[in-house]
Amino acid sequence: MSGVNRRQWLNRVGAAGVAAVAGTGSSAKGQEPGKPPQAVKPERLALEDFQPKSMLHVPETKMTRSRFPLIDVHTHLTRGARGKNGVTLGEEIKVLASPDDLLPVMDQKNIRLMVSLTGSYGKALEGAIQRLQQAHPDRFMVFTEPAWDQFNRPDYPRWQADEIGRAHRAGAKGLKVLKTLGLYLRENVTSGPLVKIDDPRFDLMWESCAGLNMPVAIHIADPEAFFLPIDRFNERFEELNNHPDWSFYDKDFPSNRELLEARNRVFARHPKVAFMALHVGNNAENLASVSECLDRFPNMSVDLAARIGELGRQPRTARKFFEKYQDRIMFGTDAVPNGTMTPQQVFLPELYEIYYRFLETEDEYFDYAPAPKPPQGRWQIYGLGLPETILRKVYYENAENLLGLKTS
Ligand SMILES: [Zn+2]
Repeated sequence: MSGVNRRQWLNRVGAAGVAAVAGTGSSAKGQEPGKPPQAVKPERLALEDFQPKSMLHVPETKMTRSRFPLIDVHTHLTRGARGKNGVTLGEEIKVLASPDDLLPVMDQKNIRLMVSLTGSYGKALEGAIQRLQQAHPDRFMVFTEPAWDQFNRPDYPRWQADEIGRAHRAGAKGLKVLKTLGLYLRENVTSGPLVKIDDPRFDLMWESCAGLNMPVAIHIADPEAFFLPIDRFNERFEELNNHPDWSFYDKDFPSNRELLEARNRVFARHPKVAFMALHVGNNAENLASVSECLDRFPNMSVDLAARIGELGRQPRTARKFFEKYQDRIMFGTDAVPNGTMTPQQVFLPELYEIYYRFLETEDEYFDYAPAPKPPQGRWQIYGLGLPETILRKVYYENAENLLGLKTS
């Protein structure tokens, strides 16, 4: 800003703004030739009603298909039916979509395989495996989940480890851990003190996954802003205002940092477990920190799910991140069929088109979610224009390695 520093400039703009509101900016009546029109009192507009349309004239690439057939490692085609205080209770699941609904979209968008993470356990897991994975073995995979409501039983550590074995025999390809661990699960399941992520009562479960070669997809903590007050300084004010229960500020919640450190102790203690740290290691705002973790833990990889809004607003940093960790980043969306409450993860053709545009093109300043307003924060994103070798790895090669799929 030449000649004027930013504060002086803001002061001037501020003064002009005040004058305009008060209607004292001009004494001119009507519009004289060569003079600016009379200042008009600006309308007040609620933030929620603001839907600015970009006036940038830049290329817009329509991405109907991904360059390569991809594996979406992070979807939710079924999920726990009952819960209390954030903890899923019982094995019962809700089926969110049938293969008949999903396959046409998958074919149209070049999605070779979807991994449904929240497959529950026991009989419900068997049902999900039958409906998805056994019916279409090349198109769907199902992961199992810990039985949190069994946490109270005295033999839980052993029982849970054995349950992973039963799930594996039923066909489950991995274990999914929701942020329940660290943020919801309590000593008496839904009440009492929070259970720590690195609680030794889970050690046998982690080791069971290592022994069976089952990768662990783990979601720990949440965006940094979810741990801060919901106020005018919070960059995700609107999102948190829409979902106040997503806030982990105050109460008895640990800080974001404490949660990630506890997770890191688990990664260190179980080097034989392949951990896929979801949502860009749950720290997409801080790629320096994610990089540090990837350097420290060879057993860690990440997915992109529901975080292209973060990656795409730091395209230069993100591009370097993709170059350096190209063998450890996987394509994931967090897609939920009919998940209209969360447009950044709704299973729609438009969602996938945005991911393809972000990864493949150098388009500038576009929406990261198919929604009239950016749902996770008021910003736009920029494409990374990744080269073919990295695209192949991110779209499917890294997932093939993690999931033990043979490359033909
Ligand atoms: Zn998810």
